[in-house]
Amino acid sequence: MYDIKKIREDFPILGREIYGKPLVYLDNGATTQKPRCVVEAMTEEYYNVNANVHRGVHFLSQKATELHENARETVRRFLNARSTNEIVFTRGTTESINLVASTFGDAFLKENDEIIISQMEHHSNIVSWQLIQARRGIRLRVIPITDEGDLCLDKYEQLFNPNTRLVSITHVSNVLGTVNPIKQMIVTAHAHGVPVLIDGAQSVPHMAVDVCDLDCDFFAFSGHKVYGPTGVGVLYGKENWLDKLPPYMGGGEMIKNVSFEHTTFNELPYKFEAGTPDYIATTGLAHALDYVTSIGMENIHAYEQELTQYAMKRMAKIENMRLFGTSANKDAVISFLVGNIHHLDMGTLLDRLGIAVRTGHHCAEPLMHLLGIEGTVRASLGLYNTKEEIDILIDGIERIRKMF
Ligand code: PLP
Repeated sequence: MYDIKKIREDFPILGREIYGKPLVYLDNGATTQKPRCVVEAMTEEYYNVNANVHRGVHFLSQKATELHENARETVRRFLNARSTNEIVFTRGTTESINLVASTFGDAFLKENDEIIISQMEHHSNIVSWQLIQARRGIRLRVIPITDEGDLCLDKYEQLFNPNTRLVSITHVSNVLGTVNPIKQMIVTAHAHGVPVLIDGAQSVPHMAVDVCDLDCDFFAFSGHKVYGPTGVGVLYGKENWLDKLPPYMGGGEMIKNVSFEHTTFNELPYKFEAGTPDYIATTGLAHALDYVTSIGMENIHAYEQELTQYAMKRMAKIENMRLFGTSANKDAVISFLVGNIHHLDMGTLLDRLGIAVRTGHHCAEPLMHLLGIEGTVRASLGLYNTKEEIDILIDGIERIRKMF
């Protein structure tokens, strides 16, 4: 049984008011709120354990290292990776994608090589590759989408050729909510001998992810979008791929021996973790993953699916409603415009009613260009949202629509 009352009590911020109205937080795609257990675990570590990790002989350093490495094991279990060697801590999805783009680019890409991305990518999975494009003269090939917001899989298959080096696609669109058939797409890519990077920023908070079952080569996600702290994220990479990639940044932690003439690099995953890691945040992330696991990712998924379908049905009935992203495989993200009301006006007026939504291009300008719009209003759901909150959103939209 999904105990929504108890779940909401775990998130103190949900009890606050905005402009005298109860907060309705529908900006979970941007970042999620944090349960008490995450904040308390981080505070406890700062108060009682804090010391820099790795190589410290003293008690606190060893204790902090233990927490940090236990967090890596928690992430490994959460993703069902084979080994903690495959779990690299980064600052978030953006850094994870940049790490692969930069190191894969240096090791494997040359002029006219091609990377396949899609029309629904977040800027982090476009611009990271454009930076390599400038350095290496590679080409980006883009999978088109249908009117409903699904990837055109037949076009995807046609994009492969002997120059294709990597597929880098989002699992779930942060604008359309489309859940892409990545397992099938990975099979296709592998049949062409091409590895696949999955941007899991918008999937990890909403569904169980098993990297072995998916057979993806790289998988990136952000802690703060899955009820964990800001400043920490994960890059999963198959060990044979991570072994082949050069280091991303130089500094402490990532080396074995250093001389002015020659440096040897540390083993995985430390080769990619230069400098002091955010070891307090990794503890927070581990508690966040334990928290969602204790509720059950399947339960969260089923609950949010019901909410999404309820919201989509009610939204569709609003006069002059334009919904962007109506795929049958859709999750927790609802982008819309109503009549000629500017997305900024809608967002600002909803805010006055205590409703937090996001407005603008959602870091997906190429998708906005394709849709012929400047931006949308986006309501994105989390495990603590309720049908009552959807009703408040709908009432708010109706009220604003009538004002215009
Ligand atoms: N990819 C997708 C699909 C996203 O939605 C986001 C953030 O909104 C990112 C990547 C970037 O995540 P971060 O800013 O946490 O690195």
